[in-house]
Amino acid sequence: MLYRLKNDFRLSIVTLLSGSAILGVTPFAIMRFLDGNLLAGFIDLGILVALAGSLVYAWRTHDTYRSGIFVAIASCSGAVAVGMLVGEVALFWLYPCLVTTFFLAPSRIAAIVNLASVLAMMTVESAFTSSVQMWTFFASTTIVSACSYVFAMRNKEQRDRLEQLATIDPLTGVKNRRSMDQELDLAAANAERTGLSYALVILDIDYFKKINDEYGHGVGDNVLRDLVGLIEENTRRTDQLFRFGGEEFVVLFPGVDETNLKTVVTNLQQGVRKSLKGPGGPVTSSFGVALLRHGESVASWLSRADHALYRAKESGRDRVVYGDDF
Ligand code: GH3
Ligand code: MG
Ligand code: MG
Repeated sequence: MLYRLKNDFRLSIVTLLSGSAILGVTPFAIMRFLDGNLLAGFIDLGILVALAGSLVYAWRTHDTYRSGIFVAIASCSGAVAVGMLVGEVALFWLYPCLVTTFFLAPSRIAAIVNLASVLAMMTVESAFTSSVQMWTFFASTTIVSACSYVFAMRNKEQRDRLEQLATIDPLTGVKNRRSMDQELDLAAANAERTGLSYALVILDIDYFKKINDEYGHGVGDNVLRDLVGLIEENTRRTDQLFRFGGEEFVVLFPGVDETNLKTVVTNLQQGVRKSLKGPGGPVTSSFGVALLRHGESVASWLSRADHALYRAKESGRDRVVYGDDF
């Protein structure tokens, strides 16, 4: 639970806002029912049910996009509805709602929700004692919304940047080993659930150290970038490429089974073999391939592909070896 709160920012905001609103609104709902103000009590109850429902929905379905938008709309319109009934005091409730919308929903939707709820509140005559107060409300809510927008955007930019640093290999721009571990776990779980077949290829450049030694690391780096371009050209958009480490790459093929595995891997090998060149001429690579077996662990799947790669190197390099018995 804590892990999800830490890793899913929107879920944490949905939880924080819904949780604190439930705590904050519940005493008022009880008070209104006790005072006999049934309409206000039911509005408070409606807000509570909507927030609690979206909280449960977000946790159960992981769909924090929709629940975020819903919480933003429910909390702002709830504050306006309360304003229509009790007047001025509801203005204070609207401010925390306006601050959080940009963290809950995409900025355009958040801006519309904020503007609509501020304008709706301004139509409530009983909420304002003078027009100066009303326009002060308008100006201050606009400033609050603008600041919240800037903070939310900066926050998102920084999170995206961090995510990129943590998952992308800076030299080649493909996903790194950390992402690979996550994607292979997902693939294995998906195979169990849906029966979709998966294959993986470990690809290692032959005698790469020689290229570095003879022509320098810069040239070696260019060969790595060229290789990535060639792999991308010779695989489908749904296949995923990862830098496993050094001059080793992994390609994950979803929906590839025994019957089409050879065609897919042969295409990849021939595409790379034909075009990968260094200053000293063609550069070859070795390939180890393994199909995910039913119920197999990711570690065993990877190790079979790695073993196949080892056999490809041992038997002379520049070839494909399958870890399965075809
Ligand atoms: P084999 O055919 O057995 O695979 O031999 P190899 O020379 O390709 O393999 P080895 O493991 O001996 O050497 C890999 C080299 O890859 C050593 C390391 O300096 C180089 N390397 C690792 N990462 C990078 C990188 O980011 N850029 C460059 N230019 N070289 C790298
Ligand atoms: Mg190598
Ligand atoms: Mg290697």
